[in-house]
Amino acid sequence: MNNYSDNREHAVQPIAGTANSSDVIVTANNTNIPSVANGTSRAGTTYWTPLCWTSNGIEHDVRIVTEANGLIGAVRSGAAYDPSDIRLEGLTIPGAANCHSHTFHRALRGIDFAGGNFWSWRDTMYAIASRLTPDLYFRYAKAVYTEMLLAGYTTVAEFHYIHHQLSGQSYNDPNAMGKALIAAAQEVGIRLTLLDTCYLHADVAGSPLNAKQQRFSDQSPEAWLERVAALERNLDDAQRQTIRIGAAAHSVRACSPQDARIIADWSRESLALGAEPRPVHIHLSEQVAENKDCLRHSGMTPAALMQTIGFWGGNACAVHATHLTADDITLLAASGASVAFCPTTEANLADGIGPAAAMRDAGIKLCIGSDENVRIDPFEEIRQLDAHERLLSGRRDAFSCAELVNIMTANGQRSCGWKNAGSVQENALADFVTLDIANSPRIAGADLQNIPFVASASDVRYVVVGGKLVVNQGMHAAEASAREIALLTKQLRD
Ligand SMILES: [Zn+2]
Repeated sequence: MNNYSDNREHAVQPIAGTANSSDVIVTANNTNIPSVANGTSRAGTTYWTPLCWTSNGIEHDVRIVTEANGLIGAVRSGAAYDPSDIRLEGLTIPGAANCHSHTFHRALRGIDFAGGNFWSWRDTMYAIASRLTPDLYFRYAKAVYTEMLLAGYTTVAEFHYIHHQLSGQSYNDPNAMGKALIAAAQEVGIRLTLLDTCYLHADVAGSPLNAKQQRFSDQSPEAWLERVAALERNLDDAQRQTIRIGAAAHSVRACSPQDARIIADWSRESLALGAEPRPVHIHLSEQVAENKDCLRHSGMTPAALMQTIGFWGGNACAVHATHLTADDITLLAASGASVAFCPTTEANLADGIGPAAAMRDAGIKLCIGSDENVRIDPFEEIRQLDAHERLLSGRRDAFSCAELVNIMTANGQRSCGWKNAGSVQENALADFVTLDIANSPRIAGADLQNIPFVASASDVRYVVVGGKLVVNQGMHAAEASAREIALLTKQLRD
C-alpha cells in the first residue's frame, strides 16, 4: 500500500538545538527565518554574502534579492551588510546540478566494493530494486536527496525506472513510485527533474525481460507514454515551481529505435507550441559489450542508431558516453546534446574513461551526475573528471576551474531542463550554495578562483533553492541520522 504521504512518524523536525519552534531556524546572526519544514518562505528575502561567484568573476559584498516566485530579483555587489539580510558567510556559488541519479543505488554503498564486473554488480543492484515499495522509496529518497542538498546539489535528475510491483503489475496508482520520489523531493526542498524511464527489453535483439526486470516495464511505449503523461498532467502549479517531468530511454538494450522515437517525439511535442521541450536522457555506450551487441545487431554504434530516429537534439543528454567513436562525438556535437559524466561511478564500476576534452573541444556541453550514489559530492565529480583527463593525456591544462564549475552548475541545470538556473544573476532561479572558506582545512590558503577545485561536500554551509534556505549552518531540518540511514539501507539489502 502506498502510505508515504500519511507517514507522520517521518515528518520533518526542526534542527535540534537551533530551532525554538517547529518552523523556525535561528541563523548565526539571530535572524529568524522560516525553515523548509513548513514549506514557506518570505517574499523578497534578501541574502548577503562577502564573496559571490558570478559570470563576471568573483564579486565582493553582494546582496542577492530573491522573490516569492523563486527567482533572483536583483544582485548588487559592493553592498554593505544590513541586519535584515540573511548572512551567507563564505564563497557563494551557483547550485550544482546532479544530472544522473538512481537514488536506490545508494544502498550499495560500502558493499560489493570489489570483484566481478558491471554485469555482476547489476545482479546485486537488482536484488535491492526488488525490495523497493513506494513507502520505502519515499523514506530512502528523502535521506538521499537531503544528502545531496548538504553536498551542494540544488537540482537532481532522477533516472527513474522502478515503476511497478515486483510481478510487473501496476500499483493501484500506476505512478505510485514516481509520486513517492516527487513527495520526497518536495519535502526536503530539492529541485527535481523526474526522468520517467522507458524500459521494455533485455537486450538489443529485443529479448524479453527477466523476472527481476518485470517491474521496470510498461509493456509498450504507448502504455509508458500514457502513464508518464498522466503523471505530468496531475502536477499542480505549486509543484511545477520545483518539479519537472522529463523522459528517458533506458538504453539501446531496453528500448528499440521505434520505442525511442516515441519517447523523443514526446519530449519535443511542446516545440510546436513554441514552448521548451522536455529533457530526454539515455544511457549511452557505458559498456564495450553494449557497443559490440549494437554493432552486431544493427551495424551501428548506439549513438548512430539513436541518430536514425532523431533522438539527439538540444534537449537530449547522453549519460556516460564512455566508449565513443570520433563519428559519435561529431554527431552528438552537431545535435546540441549534452553528455553527463559520472566519474565516481564510472571509476567504481571500472567502466573506462570517456573522451571528455575531445567532446568539450567538439562543442558538447558536459555535465555531471552521482549515478549510483557511492559518493554524493559534486566537487569530487569535477575533480575526478579532470583527473581522468590528466591521466589520459599527460597534461594538466585540459579544464580550468571556472570551466569545471560551469560543468557542475549551468551546463548541468540546462541538461535537467532548468535553463534559467546555474548562475547568480537577475531573473535566474534563486538556487545557490555557500562554502565555508574561513574554517575549512581543505580550503585554507587556496586562491579564491580555485576554491571549487579543492572544496568538498563537507564545506557546504548554506544552500538556497528557489529562494528558500534549506541548508543552514551545514544542517538540514529533515536530516536523517546515520542510524536511520543504516536501518533503511538494511531494509533494502536484507
Ligand atoms: Zn544510470
